[in-house]
Parts: sequence; structure tokens; C-alpha cells
Amino acid sequence: MPIHVPGFRGRLSQTPSDLRAVSRSTGPVSMKPWALAVPGDLNDVEALVRHASREGWHLTPRGAASGMPGGNVGHGVVVDLTEGFGQLDPVDLERKTVRVGAGVVLARAMNAARQCELDFPPAPSSSERCSAGGVTANNAAGPRSFRHGSARPWVGGVEAVLADGDVLEIDGESTGTFDVLRRTLLADQAWADGWPEVRKNSSGYALADFAHSGRPGDVLVGSEGTLGILTRVELRLRPLLEARAVAVVALPTLDALVHATDLAHRVEAAACEFLGKSFLEMGGVGADPLVGDLARDAWGLAVLECEGSKDIVKAGIDQLTREARGLGLQMRSAENAEETEGLWGVRHRASPTIAANAGRERTSMQFIEDSVVPPQRLPDYLSGLARILSEARLEAVVFGHAGDGNVHVNPLVPTGAPDWRDRVRHTLHGVTTLVASLGGTLSGEHGDGRIRAPMLERIWSPEAVRAFRMTKDTLDPVGTFNPGVILPLPGQDPLEGLGC
Ligand SMILES: Cc1cc2nc3c(=O)[nH]c(=O)nc-3n(C[C@H](O)[C@H](O)[C@H](O)COP(=O)(O)OP(=O)(O)OC[C@H]3O[C@@H](n4cnc5c(N)ncnc54)[C@H](O)[C@@H]3O)c2cc1C
Repeated sequence: MPIHVPGFRGRLSQTPSDLRAVSRSTGPVSMKPWALAVPGDLNDVEALVRHASREGWHLTPRGAASGMPGGNVGHGVVVDLTEGFGQLDPVDLERKTVRVGAGVVLARAMNAARQCELDFPPAPSSSERCSAGGVTANNAAGPRSFRHGSARPWVGGVEAVLADGDVLEIDGESTGTFDVLRRTLLADQAWADGWPEVRKNSSGYALADFAHSGRPGDVLVGSEGTLGILTRVELRLRPLLEARAVAVVALPTLDALVHATDLAHRVEAAACEFLGKSFLEMGGVGADPLVGDLARDAWGLAVLECEGSKDIVKAGIDQLTREARGLGLQMRSAENAEETEGLWGVRHRASPTIAANAGRERTSMQFIEDSVVPPQRLPDYLSGLARILSEARLEAVVFGHAGDGNVHVNPLVPTGAPDWRDRVRHTLHGVTTLVASLGGTLSGEHGDGRIRAPMLERIWSPEAVRAFRMTKDTLDPVGTFNPGVILPLPGQDPLEGLGC
């Protein structure tokens, strides 16, 4: 059936090349859509949503497609926000905010902020490619989220087209539907019992934040395109800090990681990252001129960053040096901005290096790449993970945000082996059981997407899942937006479209 939407003046396409292009993303899930819609402005999105709701179409909003768990692909109409929503307003110096179209690449907004001596602290490592809409929709986070939190508190407001085609404005009043949702959530708060006590969370819907604040943006941030289409967002900024410096600590054992994260808390570090042994080997970090000698025999490296005034940063690095020495840990700190960048480079080259070095027979596949556990349970998570991977005969590259208990795990999957899907399934189920037993969730920043949606009920309490369903039914009653993302469809296979 050819696609036609009354009142839509943007681009609609069903050509094989367009559909192929948006059937893939950076993540491992592929799905061929029925059509592509490229709205040119807000009116187009309103017309599309109204028509889709009437006709029973499904819409998958899409930004830069750098998301991992398959929320950016779907069988219905993919809605590409990157062309028509590139407006970047002037930075509001008084309020320290900037309003940007959902399709604006985050780095562009950050550069504008930087020219005004302002900064967006939760920026993810993918800032050079991801869109402001995608960052908001995933409640993304970055290395400095250790100190500054994920995107949600840094989103001042959102403009979004809701299921009935109405527009929620950035400065607008909460609509009646959001008020109904909030009242229902507040009337019986059984969903809040046993809420995972993690430092970051991009799984499920942020019901606690929304019920507390009543701000529609709080539940739309992190909703992964399942509750509406974001068209504009307001990012909160803070003054650029005078100085920052990085220290790299060699970790001889897993226990040393616990010491390093304690240390990061004590010096109020902005970031506390770690690179596991597999990462060091695969990334060739042993040959790195700055940290090669620390990496060669280590179990892992911790990367800690101090920020603030020059005096505060110096005091932080001095304390790190003293305490690391006291613990018998080798440490190297950056002497200047260039070395700081160099040390961060070791961390930022992670994903591309791993993908390039996985070898022809193996694919670096992100399907358990974002679990988060209470930080004190990190050693249990890492040892349980090693057992599960060994059972599945999979190697994996492990790194991530140690201070937040959020670990990125990229298994190297031999997709030529006849049983690779069984091994992936075993790993996904094993990790889900492990994370549930440790009181964590399957996503600290990338979202549930399609891969993790079928696991939702094993992580969250029945009451929380019921409240998630009620939230979806209230805000998207006919199920227009991204079905099968966050909440699973009946019989949904987590491996659908994986590695295709
Ligand atoms: C090398 C690399 C490094 C990364 N590092 C990080 C990191 O440090 N931290 C982190 O959090 N993530 C990271 N990611 C994952 C990803 O880049 C981020 O989650 C990013 O925020 C996704 O933005 P996007 O524009 O690519 O969104 P997409 O991938 O296009 O979409 C992601 C989700 O958001 C929804 N969505 C997108 N735009 C809209 C919109 N306008 N309205 C409603 N819903 C929308 C989609 O439906 C989908 O569910 C990394 C990815 C890569 C490839």
C-alpha cells in the first residue's frame, strides 16, 4: 500500500534503498520498516501522528541511530527527525539553557554552549554523532554522570507531539492526561516498592521522578520514542570549570577496583571509569605511550577525573596520589590539558577499536552492554558475568562507568557458528537473572529497546510493570509509538532482528 498522509508536506518514501538505510542502526538489531517519513516541521509531525493513530500505523522516532538495543528500528513507519529539526536557538545566558531541535547533533549544541563558557555535563561519549532528541529519549549519560547524573535533570523541558496529535510545549502547562497519570500513580504507590537502588537507570519509565515532580518531561525523558515524538528540547547548562585533570590507576585485582571507586567518591571525582583486561588487550593499550606500562600486567585500569578550580583539581590529584600509594596502587596523572585528552583518548577509542579488532569471524555485539547494579555489588556482577560468558564460550570486552556500577560488556560473537544464537540467548538470560539477583537493571543509559523489553518482568516487580503498562496505555492508548520497545509485545523474542 503506498503511503499518503493528508497535510504532510515532508518526505514520505517506500523505496528499497531508503527502507534499507533505516532498517539498521549502530546497534545489532535490524528491522525493515514499511515506510520512512521525514517531517519538515512540527505541523508535519502533528499530521503524521494524527493519521497514524487513526489508521493504526506504528511510528518509530529516530535520531542519529547510534542507540544500541533496537529502539530506533521498527516494522512500521520510521520517523527521521534529523533533517527537519536542526534549529539551534541562541544560548540563554541568564537562564543557562539552550533550546535545540530534536535532530541537532549534541556536539553542535555543546559547542555553542562552550562559546558562552557553558557546558552540558551528562554528555555521552557519542556526542559527536547522537541527536539531542536521542539523548533525551534514552536518558543518556556519560563519564561525568558519576558526579552530575544522567540527562534527565539536565533537560529543562521538552516539546513533543503526543498520541492525539496535540503538542506539549516546552513552557506549556501539563496536559490533563499527564495529570490523570500522576494522580493514578500517587493513589497507589505499590509500584515504588523494591525500586532498584542504582545510581543510573534507563530501564522502564521514570515513574518516581514524574510522580514527584509532575513535569511531563520527566516521564518523556527516557521513554525511547514510546510515548510521543520529541521535536525540541531545552538543555540546562552550567559554567565551564576552570580546570580538570585525569589520573589512571593500575588495578592488579578486582578488589582494587572497589578501592578505586571508594577513592573516587572521597575526592569527589567527576568521573570514575574502568577498562577491563580484555579491553586493554584488544585495544592494544599495552603499547600506549602514556599508560602502556601500567596496562601491561594489570587486571584493569581505572580512569578518574577531578574538576573544579585549579586549586581543587590539584588537591584532588594530590590526594589520589597519596591514597593510591598508600594502597600500593600504581598511578599516573596528566600534567597538562594535552595529556588529559590523551588519557581520555584511551577510554574513548573503546568501541571503534573493539569493533575493528574483533576479527573477521567474530562480531562485537551489544546485547548485555548496559547493566547497572548498586556499586557495592559490582564485584559480584563481574564475577557472575565471567561465569556466564564462560558457560556460553564467549569472550567479551568489558569496560564502563565503574563508579556508577554501570558496565559495558561487548561479547565477541562467532556469528558463523551454528549455535551462536543459543549462546547469545544463554548469556542474555543468565545476565538478566544475575542483575535481578543483585538489585540492578539491564540499562544504565542505553535504554531497554527491543532486546531487553522481553526481560522487563524479570527485573521489575509485577506492580512496577503494571504501572509501566498503565503509563503507556494512558499516554498512548492505541499503541502508536514504538510498540515492542520498553514493554514487550506478546511472545516477543529478544533476539528478533539480532545480527541480521
Ligand atoms: C561509539 C558509541 C558510544 C556511545 N556512548 C554512549 C554514552 O557514553 N552514553 C550513552 O548514554 N549512550 C552512548 N551511546 C549510545 C547512543 O549514542 C546514545 O544513547 C544516544 O543518546 C542515542 O541518540 P541517537 O540520536 O542516536 O538516537 P537513536 O539511536 O536514533 O534513537 C534512540 C532511541 O531514542 C528514540 N528517539 C530518538 N529520537 C527521538 C525523538 N526525537 N523523539 C522520540 N524518541 C526519539 C528512538 O525511538 C530510540 O528508541 C554510544 C553509542 C556509540 C555508537
